[in-house]
Amino acid sequence: MHELGLLTSVVEAVERAAAEATSKVSRVENVALKVGTLSGAVPEALHGSWPLAKAGTICEDARLTLEVIPATVFCPTCNRDVEIDEFFALTCPECGTPTGNMTHGREFALDYVEWSTEDSP
Ligand SMILES: [Zn+2]
Repeated sequence: MHELGLLTSVVEAVERAAAEATSKVSRVENVALKVGTLSGAVPEALHGSWPLAKAGTICEDARLTLEVIPATVFCPTCNRDVEIDEFFALTCPECGTPTGNMTHGREFALDYVEWSTEDSP
């Protein structure tokens, strides 16, 4: 259960961005993250930890939106990215070529934040 720690870092990043915004941020509406299936963060646990992570912060009223990024490896035989499942070894599921060249799936990143400012209607 390290999701709370991850989300605390996300909230801190939003607070820094809000502090640097040109208009004063009055309310954060939505925080969107990209979460790779191999990032180690579990979407259900992120949603479960969100109320605790945002309590008393600028994100108090914000929703959490997760975009789950499937894990992919680049297969030199198929010459393209192929999706692997969470527990798959690093081999191409289509042709079986071993490949350690993971192209997606480890993402854990702030995607975008929606907020309203004191200037907005
Ligand atoms: Zn392949």
